[in-house]
Amino acid sequence: MEAQTSDKDARRDRRGRVRRIRNGIITFIAVWIVVSIITMTFLCIKVVSLQRQVNVLLAERIQAVTPQYTSAAQDTDATLVMYDMDAEENLADPDDILKVYLTFDDGPSDRTDEVLDILDDYNIKATFFVTGHTDEHSKEMYKRIVAEGHTIAMHSYTHRYGEIYASLDAFAEDLDRIQNLIYDVTGVDCMYYRFPGGSSNKVSNTDMTEYIQYLTDQGITYFDWNVASGDATTQAYTADDLVENVMRDVVKYKTSVVLFHDSENKTITVEALPIVIEQLQAQGAVLLPISEDTRLIQHVTLSTE
Ligand code: ZN
Repeated sequence: MEAQTSDKDARRDRRGRVRRIRNGIITFIAVWIVVSIITMTFLCIKVVSLQRQVNVLLAERIQAVTPQYTSAAQDTDATLVMYDMDAEENLADPDDILKVYLTFDDGPSDRTDEVLDILDDYNIKATFFVTGHTDEHSKEMYKRIVAEGHTIAMHSYTHRYGEIYASLDAFAEDLDRIQNLIYDVTGVDCMYYRFPGGSSNKVSNTDMTEYIQYLTDQGITYFDWNVASGDATTQAYTADDLVENVMRDVVKYKTSVVLFHDSENKTITVEALPIVIEQLQAQGAVLLPISEDTRLIQHVTLSTE
């Protein structure tokens, strides 16, 4: 009798132990899954935020580099010449009618719709230096830019400096992709280009000579800018700041090419745009899309000597 009881007890004990071990394993796996998910989420957020910081730093470097080219200077490389942004022939006289080319880089995005609506409200044509996207909305934007009489221009397919400026082959391939995409979607054989970071970019310590030569050989004209709205900086800025930046510099030049961005987060650019347009119109400026008649505004150019 006693032997049977202790036998039962032993079995119960064993079952209890097995259950506890099983529960322990299940709990361990559950905790492990939860911890993994939390860690992965944290790492994803970290990667995205680091990517943003990298972009911001690149943008800041570009902004920092641009103003250096305010006086004539010969580059140490004999084949490249820094353009004199304040060259006499482009300085405005008091009674000049100012020509202003508004340009928007890095789109299309949802901001592009808004920029196009504003330009339409004022019946003004501008220039969009687009990057490559194949989603339906982006294709719609490429088409709308063309249909509404604006100039569609290239700003590379990927906008990734490390890839585009890795070699001439990489540059040529990227150029081909964006040119073909625009042609396939809009039927426009695009002949205008803006280098990511500008022709004077020092982002990847790239010698721009061969890229400029390549564009020239392809019959493609590149444009930089001589007026920066400041919408690419990381410092907090308001719509009023952008308006002030543009209006302060535009009056200096017969021809101004103004740098804006219509990428996703540029809500302040959209806010500033109607004010900029109204103030330019009050100045009597004409606002035009880039064409073959546009005075070349280039930070760096190949020496013709
Ligand atoms: Zn850009």
